[in-house]
Amino acid sequence: DHHRSIGSMLRHWAGERPDAPAVAVEGVAEHTFASWLDASSRLAGGLAAHGVGPGGRVGFIGKNAVTWAEVLAAASFRRAAAIPFNWRLSADETTAVLADADVAVLVVEAELLPLLGRSVPEDGAARVLLPGGDERPYDAWLAEQDAVPALEPEPDDIAFLIYTSGTSGRPKGVELPNRAIAANLAAPAPWDIAEGHVVMVPAPIFHLSGTGWIFYCLGLGATSLYVLDIRPDVVLGVFAGDRVDHALTVPAVVQSLVQHPDAAERSYPRLRTLIYGGSPMSPTVADAARELFDCDLIQSYGMTETCGPITFLGPDDHRRGGERLASAGVAVPGVELGVFDPATGERCPVGETGEVWTRSALIMAGYRNQPGELSAVLREDGWFRTGDAGYQDADGYLFLCDRVKDMIVSGGENIYPVEVENVLMTHPDVRDVAVIGVPDERWGETVKAVVIPGDRRPDPAELVAHCRERLAHYKCPTSVDLVEALPRNPSGKLLKRELRAPYWAGRSREIA
Ligand code: ATP
Ligand code: MG
Repeated sequence: DHHRSIGSMLRHWAGERPDAPAVAVEGVAEHTFASWLDASSRLAGGLAAHGVGPGGRVGFIGKNAVTWAEVLAAASFRRAAAIPFNWRLSADETTAVLADADVAVLVVEAELLPLLGRSVPEDGAARVLLPGGDERPYDAWLAEQDAVPALEPEPDDIAFLIYTSGTSGRPKGVELPNRAIAANLAAPAPWDIAEGHVVMVPAPIFHLSGTGWIFYCLGLGATSLYVLDIRPDVVLGVFAGDRVDHALTVPAVVQSLVQHPDAAERSYPRLRTLIYGGSPMSPTVADAARELFDCDLIQSYGMTETCGPITFLGPDDHRRGGERLASAGVAVPGVELGVFDPATGERCPVGETGEVWTRSALIMAGYRNQPGELSAVLREDGWFRTGDAGYQDADGYLFLCDRVKDMIVSGGENIYPVEVENVLMTHPDVRDVAVIGVPDERWGETVKAVVIPGDRRPDPAELVAHCRERLAHYKCPTSVDLVEALPRNPSGKLLKRELRAPYWAGRSREIA
């Protein structure tokens, strides 16, 4: 019952384990369950005094998960929604997202105030921006507030809002209700995270993967330990220490860890589980990580809109290795998952690629200010269209191929770029590659490969020939561009939209 809301979970654990560490930022700050409850009850009082109640919104711009945890719980006590803003955005993008979110109260770390056109205060302390434009030092202001009793939560209250990564379009504010958080905690998972364990989280809190672990650990009475510095030697040091039981990370970081020269010289006796997800990871890296850390590996697949994982590839699958290391695993129990033809809505047969759909209590309430976007992805029968392309094998293992929007339609044939990219990656002179569709008079679209060369500059004709030997003719690139770098977002996701833009200048690309 205490999983009803973030506030209920906090009150429960502050009663059970008041002095245990609850949320910490390595080397910066820490809350026990009791001190977290105290700070957020005061903050709730301050919010109430400024009229923030049910349906209201409170924002946070910062890196300190401990301050963010206060905002998250205080909003929950007020039945308001908490919103963490992406501090990696430009000032202009921040202005647009802030206007969309329309928060009543905003807590901002000192160094990030310039994003709002304000100057960095000399004391270096976080500020709270109150209705009417009043700016106060956050901690001093908080100390003056009186706690107010928590309001009773409802399952449909929006607990928090997270903006998507903007990989396929402009960021959308995903509204996540209390019921999705409760469903996330209730979903059976292949790890053994329990009361008193420490989970290391290197993800920024403005992503679901960052914030999700605050409430997940809170729900279980575990500690979430945030690490701001994700340089490989630092992360390896934390893994090798005697504090962390479980850790999560993204494939790009796992790769940097296993390739680090000192990695093999250390041992990691305490680390039990390494959880990764967010983008595809090469099976070679997964194998190397399991060997290096000698722990359970778990892959998860999910998105902001699903408030957490919808599939897992568990430890046994990682130990068995083989083809399934390239899969994102099977549906989380209680979550429906299927592959459908996005045009007809028919279920695809085993092995055939279509769009991944899912249905469960985890699905978001909506996109803020964009009801049209919601009806485009959430069907009346409850199926949510993920926008990801993939296929399932006979045992239900999901293999992700690409975004449906990145699929290339050439002469009426569907081409999934990942298939072509995987073939090109086997060529010795290709270090990295992205395959995109570019306009073509005759075929509508045609396949282009954008390649980062290896030590030797490949001959484009030779790369095309390499594909011709291994792929159907219509899937082979008709042109190859050699470049020095590919556009990626901070989570390491390839921005194909950006890569396509110059080729499509002045034209619109119709997508399924
Ligand atoms: P936007 O929705 O704005 O385009 P985004 O989809 O990248 O951005 P997120 O919700 O942060 O924003 O990311 C979810 C997406 O990340 C999934 O839809 C999927 O494409 C990708 N993803 C997540 N986990 C995995 C995984 N294990 N393997 C491959 N891709 C993954
Ligand atoms: Mg998305």
